[in-house]
Amino acid sequence: MMEYPFLKKANSPFIDRYVKKAAELLEPWNGIESSQVGLIGVPLSKSSISHSGALMAPATIRKEFGAYSTYSIEENLDLALLSITDFGDIDMHVTDIKMSQDRIEQTLTDILTDYPDMFPIILGGDHSISFPAISAIMKTKGRVGVIQFDAHHDLRNLVDGGPSNGTPFRSLIEHDVISGDQLVQIGIRDFSNSAIYSSFAYSNQVTVYTMKDVRKQPITTILEQAIEQLIPLVDCLYLSIDIDVLDQAFAPGCPAIGPGGMDSQTLLDAAFYLGQHPLIKGLDIVEIDPTVDFRNMTSRVGVHVILQFLKGRMAGGLL
Ligand code: CA
Repeated sequence: MMEYPFLKKANSPFIDRYVKKAAELLEPWNGIESSQVGLIGVPLSKSSISHSGALMAPATIRKEFGAYSTYSIEENLDLALLSITDFGDIDMHVTDIKMSQDRIEQTLTDILTDYPDMFPIILGGDHSISFPAISAIMKTKGRVGVIQFDAHHDLRNLVDGGPSNGTPFRSLIEHDVISGDQLVQIGIRDFSNSAIYSSFAYSNQVTVYTMKDVRKQPITTILEQAIEQLIPLVDCLYLSIDIDVLDQAFAPGCPAIGPGGMDSQTLLDAAFYLGQHPLIKGLDIVEIDPTVDFRNMTSRVGVHVILQFLKGRMAGGLL
């Protein structure tokens, strides 16, 4: 056997065994078991109002797990021993949005029934996927309070254009999956919404924190208020993160870029804070479009949000 001291052979393990990339946490589902955390891809973006390649996001986000280590220096916590079961992607119908939504709801309902203790991380796709995803959560875990990070209300009516990434929360309310007071929207932005949808939000008791509200106080204060308000109404909480809540400087890879949005640190702080809350039973990250991104920086924010959230679960003794 030839040995060269400075030659690292292909596929040889790291010299320092304690160096681990976050990508190594992902374990393909074996058809039998799941770990405490599951990853499920939903590559649907035909339902987008504007051009979107968000169907590419699940694959890109998985790849970008390789960009990070598992260690949090801020909390001195290491996720290295955590396993994330990667269930793969739900197969979308080629053209039929309603049929794709039915597949999402059915598949997630089945998975959450079979693995009731698994925490689902759902990767969109555009925001239309949150309607069937939250419907599955309601069916399997009871009344659900939704904390939505978004530049937009996503409360368009379904009559004019059918189900799209502009309608998921209207659909949830109109299908009685949630009532308006079970929805808290954070990061809603100027010149990105119509007055008619803000009126719909307020007349249906949806709680809205605009970007002005976000600038005025720590994000944890807002989340504390939101959770306190939701808890008496629901059995569990769900976090829906539209990456376009971020300013275009932090998230260039999404269809609806614009100024005046949240900075990424605020979103990461929110993810860490919410990760520690035992009533949060699922999350989705949507609207990342790798086809218009720059160096996958928006997908990387998505991965970082997931890692911060999992760090929160670990810090909160939930993992
Ligand atoms: Ca949205």
